Amino acid sequence: MSFLEYAPAPESQAILNLRSEYGLFIDGEFREGHGTPFASISPATEKHLATIAHADAADVDAAVAAARRAYDRTWSRMSGADRGKYLFRIARLVQERSRELAVAESLDNGKPIKESRDVDVPLVAAWFFYYAGWADKLDHVGLGASPAPLGVAAQVIPWNFPLLMLAWKIAPALAAGNTVVLKPAETTSLTALLFAEIVQQADLPPGVVNIITGAGETGAALVGHGDVDKVAFTGSTSVGRAIARSVAGTNKKLTLELGGKAANIVFDDAPIDQAIEGIVNGIFFNQGHVCCAGSRLLVQESIHDEVIDRLKTRLSTLRLGDPLDKNTDIGAINSAEQLERIRELSDVGEAEGAERWTAACTIPENGFWYAPTIFTNVSTSHRIAREEIFGPVLSVLTFRTPAEAIAKANNTPYGLSAGIWTDKGSRILAVADKLRAGVVWANTFNRFDPSSPFGGYKESGYGREGGRHGIAAYLKTAAPALVAAAPARKTVTKGATK
Ligand code: NAD
Repeated sequence: MSFLEYAPAPESQAILNLRSEYGLFIDGEFREGHGTPFASISPATEKHLATIAHADAADVDAAVAAARRAYDRTWSRMSGADRGKYLFRIARLVQERSRELAVAESLDNGKPIKESRDVDVPLVAAWFFYYAGWADKLDHVGLGASPAPLGVAAQVIPWNFPLLMLAWKIAPALAAGNTVVLKPAETTSLTALLFAEIVQQADLPPGVVNIITGAGETGAALVGHGDVDKVAFTGSTSVGRAIARSVAGTNKKLTLELGGKAANIVFDDAPIDQAIEGIVNGIFFNQGHVCCAGSRLLVQESIHDEVIDRLKTRLSTLRLGDPLDKNTDIGAINSAEQLERIRELSDVGEAEGAERWTAACTIPENGFWYAPTIFTNVSTSHRIAREEIFGPVLSVLTFRTPAEAIAKANNTPYGLSAGIWTDKGSRILAVADKLRAGVVWANTFNRFDPSSPFGGYKESGYGREGGRHGIAAYLKTAAPALVAAAPARKTVTKGATK
């Protein structure tokens, strides 16, 4: 098969003015940290991008104290309409600086520019616009009249969607009247620090948003701080467990968005061309660094060979390389550690008897890369069917009946998301109803919208982000909490059907 040749189309970096060093953003200004600064590198080239301050316990104290002062003196006293104006202003500034933010995100994280430009950054703006609209309507969130903010929120986020996870955390917290201290992941701090500049540009009162950088111990000091009222964490299940332990017995409210091992179920009546695109989007979007990735393909046995053949053909057309090239489909793996984990689990997959197929592509000399890979002949007991690989690796299992598909899909400690591909609307509803997953996509995958709650069951965590559920997690009320007390519900999103 021959493919069209693509000339390189690199996005210019001229728009981005990175400083050589970044401090901590506390009380409305950048200041030095007391820990040893660390480097942020480009995962695609391993080149040094900037030196980042490291917050120690004293810096965490200062950030929480600034957030508390801002909460007491300004933010919690401001009307919802006025808070909303600040959030609208942030949303517009994100739009104005969208190209710069997209370039910074791709440089620092390794994700393709077409994803940061067309998915991450537009969704960041959408999240702030959406929650700006809620700020003066809190009486209608579903918690009864006059719900109140919680106070100071400690927020810790991962590296896979750095700016988007920041928006998911900060937008609802501020709209509800809380102040925040946020810690980005140590490999992807840059866009959070650019966001701190946006906070300054938007003229937010000092201390309403504080960004502190550092690794796990900084995060642990933040969530364990005695003057924090709410902890919101997105990251791995193991760290989520440690945080749940540290918060237990305190008055802090906690939401956890953790890992996943989603089943993407393809029935034999599915629109195959769309399903192939959905499978690719499900697991190869963002190099598979997606908590809700469709990392387990459950395909009906009668169409297994056809689906796998077509999938291999499609994967052979994906272009791996420079994240800043507008043609790139598969960017860099975020870090050497993550690459090692993907390699290790893939080797285990082969050792346990699954069959590995890897798309032929040229791997750049420097940086961290992993070619799109499929494992067939996978059984439910294999580690690659049970553990989150968090990379561009798909494990394929088969089923014969809907009941078997449901049993296999639910045979996981996780419960974040799932996908269903079929022509029958009745089957979508019947199967979605039985899947133990917080989000179920039908004839589509990896769709996000600020009005749609997102979150997990079981080891994928608890609490919802997005929608009014997302803002309810930052509010308290004397009346019974209608939204918060409701059992965890799943969101079913249907793609366009013929
Ligand atoms: P991670 O848990 O290692 O780190 C996440 C964040 O927690 C980082 O900022 C890290 O510095 C910090 N941290 C580490 N140890 C800590 C501690 N003891 N106390 C407080 N903070 C600590 O996860 P990761 O490798 O950055 O991200 C990948 C994981 O995140 C995957 O498992 C993925 O599924 C999950 N994730 C989940 C969602 C979701 O919405 N459910 C979204 C994105 C990523």
